[in-house]
Amino acid sequence: MVERTCAACDCKLEDPVITVKIGGKTVEVCCEECAATLREAKTSVTAESRPAQSL
Ligand SMILES: [Zn+2]
Repeated sequence: MVERTCAACDCKLEDPVITVKIGGKTVEVCCEECAATLREAKTSVTAESRPAQSL
């Protein structure tokens, strides 16, 4: 049996598990708070990793 952990806080996942889709990937988190945290983190990372092109 695979032990699943929350993608945000790394604690053990228990049913019901919340799944969040981020950038085409589906990750599992333990609660809505962690889901929101992940979404915000990924959103800011995506925004920052997109350099302004000077062409
Ligand atoms: Zn969590």
